[in-house]
Amino acid sequence: MSITENLIKIKNDIPEGVKLVAVSKTKPIEDILAVYNAGHRLFGENKAQELSSKHPQLPDDIQWHFIGHLQTNKVKYIIPFVSLIHSIDRIKLLREVNKQAAKVNRVVDCLLQFHIATEETKFGLNMEEAVELLSSEEYIKMENIRICGIMGMATNTKDVSIISKEFRYLREIKKDLKEKYFQGSKHFIDISMGMSGDYKIAIEEGSTIVRIGSAIFGAR
Ligand SMILES: *Cc1c(COP(=O)(O)O)cnc(C)c1O
Repeated sequence: MSITENLIKIKNDIPEGVKLVAVSKTKPIEDILAVYNAGHRLFGENKAQELSSKHPQLPDDIQWHFIGHLQTNKVKYIIPFVSLIHSIDRIKLLREVNKQAAKVNRVVDCLLQFHIATEETKFGLNMEEAVELLSSEEYIKMENIRICGIMGMATNTKDVSIISKEFRYLREIKKDLKEKYFQGSKHFIDISMGMSGDYKIAIEEGSTIVRIGSAIFGAR
């Protein structure tokens, strides 16, 4: 199937109200344009340098989400244009996002990334670290970031019950944080979970944003 056919098939699988991030990491400009020309406007990249070099080569009305591990010294390259950062996993990173966003007069939307998988290799906060971050004086004073929800990646396994359990846990975390820190907030609404291999499970468990790469663009 072509990239465009893949896109259409996936869009048909996704209910209204769930956003699709087309993850274009490692893929060339012409592949991204194929998806763009099929009407899609939301793309995700996981490396700051790759994103900042692709951004000027592509149409201005693309919304770019940053989904990968972000080094503090790379934040400045993406802040002028990024529309959502999915991967806030430490206060030091949030501090730098806030600082760079202030320089360009923006309020940048962010998600807190949680570690929900059994693999150690995946990044993310645990509940204790999130509580520490959200109750810190420093966070409360940040004016150029806005926390819009949370993100997580499930264990890479074929065992559906493990994946479901991890996504359900992420939904519990969101509910908990909403009650404790974001009561009355109109912005704390998103759960970014689900990739090519597990997006259907993620949607069943309440995902609002799925991040899909290989099922659209082909294997990397
Ligand atoms: C690469 C990547 C994806 C997409 O993965 P696929 O399996 O190709 O759909 C989603 N989320 C993150 C954080 C990624 O790095």
